[in-house]
Amino acid sequence: MKILVINCGSSSLKYQLINMETEEVLTKGLVERIGIDGSILTQKTPGKDKYVVEQAMEDHKAAIGLVLKALIDENFGVIKSMDEISAVGHRVVHGGEKYAQSVLIDDEVMASLEDCVKLAPLHNPPNIIGIKACMELMPATPMTAVFDTAFHQTMPEEAYIYALPYEYYTEYGIRKYGFHGTSHKYVSSKAAEAMGRDIRDLKIVTCHLGNGSSVTAVKDGISIDTTMGFTPLEGLAMGTRSGNLDPAIVSFLVKELKITADEALNILNKKSGVLGISGVSSDFRDIQIASEGGNKRAKLALDIFCYRVRKYIGAYAASMGGVDCLVFTAGVGENSIEMREEICKGLSFLGIELDSERNHTRGEIAEISSDNSKVKIYVIPTDEEMMIAKDTKDIVSK
Ligand code: AMP
Repeated sequence: MKILVINCGSSSLKYQLINMETEEVLTKGLVERIGIDGSILTQKTPGKDKYVVEQAMEDHKAAIGLVLKALIDENFGVIKSMDEISAVGHRVVHGGEKYAQSVLIDDEVMASLEDCVKLAPLHNPPNIIGIKACMELMPATPMTAVFDTAFHQTMPEEAYIYALPYEYYTEYGIRKYGFHGTSHKYVSSKAAEAMGRDIRDLKIVTCHLGNGSSVTAVKDGISIDTTMGFTPLEGLAMGTRSGNLDPAIVSFLVKELKITADEALNILNKKSGVLGISGVSSDFRDIQIASEGGNKRAKLALDIFCYRVRKYIGAYAASMGGVDCLVFTAGVGENSIEMREEICKGLSFLGIELDSERNHTRGEIAEISSDNSKVKIYVIPTDEEMMIAKDTKDIVSK
């Protein structure tokens, strides 16, 4: 069974074709600048030259048309015909409260996705456009939606209700939803596997640290709390996002800078985080270099980032009544030896002890805790596409 995984952004699209018998990624690609000048498709296939198509793509349908052509291309493709694609798994950011699991897409699901647009106005529209384009081009192929929010639907009320008038939850759906769920689910299950333990008996803190970052408390295999909230703005300081702050700052900015609330929010989403603090970059590697070169604000940005991660590890140990396992994943979590070292500093009171030598690892699954550490610490590369493909396979096999 071959499954195509599609992750549609507003002007970009990532895809992978996966053979589910072997869990082998047959090919993966990226389409950029959809609907703007300079559209480009890049497909990378193991054992083959990189395939690049530079051609105008006015919309997502045109982009997906080219993806399908690339997949069956005589020289650079990996399948003979589109009929070999058994199903398409779509990443969808927001499933609201309706979806605690991945689903087969039908008219009712499409209507629900439209309902969720108000909750994720930046993310759900491109996801929906991608699904519609695939349906038009592959009308007979089953499609699934795999939601970033679904894994967190198990959170108890005390974790997801904000201390606002309760009617705002019932009338407008204002609550914590949480994001990166596919990643937290994947790495927590891999960690249990690595420990040789049943995930239903484990307390795991998963740290997805990338440009967007979140920490999740996974108790007995389910998410019981996570740092992102109503939107992906809550929680940690991120590449460009502020994370938690006093909401009164928004109205203060509106008055002082004479800007609208939306403009203030744009500052919190795009100009804040480690970029805003350091003034250097949103990229952790650039900030690290600046910090090592003596830039104090760059150092402060990294310190603030690590401090918050550390704080949430402690908070979630308290939420779960202990912690058995700590997992680092995503760009920073998988690659930054220094950030992992810094985050784990001072956590020995929880039984978290990093082994500096084992921590010298990048981008592959590794146990990095010391032999004395009560808590196992792992680096586990996330693989949201594989998780989407697995869910899709399960759904269409039923
Ligand atoms: P992601 O959003 O998961 O793709 O992660 C992107 C972030 O990971 C960027 O800020 C990168 O700077 C960071 N990153 C990737 N490799 C490294 C590395 N070797 N050291 C530090 N940060 C890294």
